[in-house]
Amino acid sequence: MKMPERIDLANLPTKIEKMDRLSKELDKNIWIKRDDQTGMEVSGNKVRKLQYAVKEALDGGCDHLITCGGIQSNHARATAAVAAKLGMGCTLVLRGEEKEDREGNLFLETLLGAHVEYITAEEYAESRGGIMESIRQELGKEGKKAYILPEGASNGIGSFGYLDAYHEIVEQEKEMGIHFDAIVLTVGSGGTFTGLFVGNRLDEKNRDVVGINISASADHFRNVIAEIVEDMKNYAEIPFSVNPQDVYIIDGYQGLGYAISQDEELQFIKRLARLEGIILDSVYTGKAMYGLVEEIKKGNLDKYENILFIHTGGIFGWTREVRGRV
Ligand SMILES: *Cc1c(COP(=O)(O)O)cnc(C)c1O
Repeated sequence: MKMPERIDLANLPTKIEKMDRLSKELDKNIWIKRDDQTGMEVSGNKVRKLQYAVKEALDGGCDHLITCGGIQSNHARATAAVAAKLGMGCTLVLRGEEKEDREGNLFLETLLGAHVEYITAEEYAESRGGIMESIRQELGKEGKKAYILPEGASNGIGSFGYLDAYHEIVEQEKEMGIHFDAIVLTVGSGGTFTGLFVGNRLDEKNRDVVGINISASADHFRNVIAEIVEDMKNYAEIPFSVNPQDVYIIDGYQGLGYAISQDEELQFIKRLARLEGIILDSVYTGKAMYGLVEEIKKGNLDKYENILFIHTGGIFGWTREVRGRV
């Protein structure tokens, strides 16, 4: 299959490390792919998707990026960094209220020169697409050509970033002389999962790709993923459609919902930090890895010998509020 073109923005390939002490504790081989180290300003999973989406923007002659997300969106921060690097303008439409005290990702975004528009949760749910479109038109009147990226860059073009990552994992398996029976990752807006899922299907389902959703429901994401695959077909020849029933997502670890942490999740993150020297984030990877460990303990993943967890990043999301609880 011929891939669409990309630009280089990330430090690749990212390392795969064995989590020795956790593996010993659970009597299961657990590995971690350090996509939290794709960069510093652009760290995390979103930059892989931006490598494809922003290439499309540049090819279309665009000079401005517009995207959206939660107030601590890692995707918004990575987009702001990429825009600055490429000399493009950047407008971020974020769900939340403007406050004096800008923290974490929000602080970095303004430092990187992005313009932030704050909208309510209701506006975000119902009309963020329209809001971004009207910003695009306003910019057009100023002679600017803006490109709109959806939430998480989880559309067809963005998801090629993780089809790429799948190929990278296969190369690393060869070098390491190991086979991962399962790749486990967080599902937030679905693009990361979709890229890996498509990679695995094209690789004759060499393993299971297992998602753990951190908001909404598994069923919601099964449909989202099938739709993203259809969108990928606008860019490359993908010889299958996805039946949502065939998408493996483990439900039940979204806890209290998006970006709301339960104490057991935070305590798990703290314990893992001390066990492995690895910092997870509280919104995405902390919940997903907590879920993975719980599922192993329950015996639900007994058929897998070697499990690869993708660390998708998120370190800047440790806001004062969550920090105060660990
Ligand atoms: C966005 C994000 C995810 C989820 O990835 P999707 O492609 O949106 O499903 C996981 N982890 C972190 C740290 C993220 O920022």
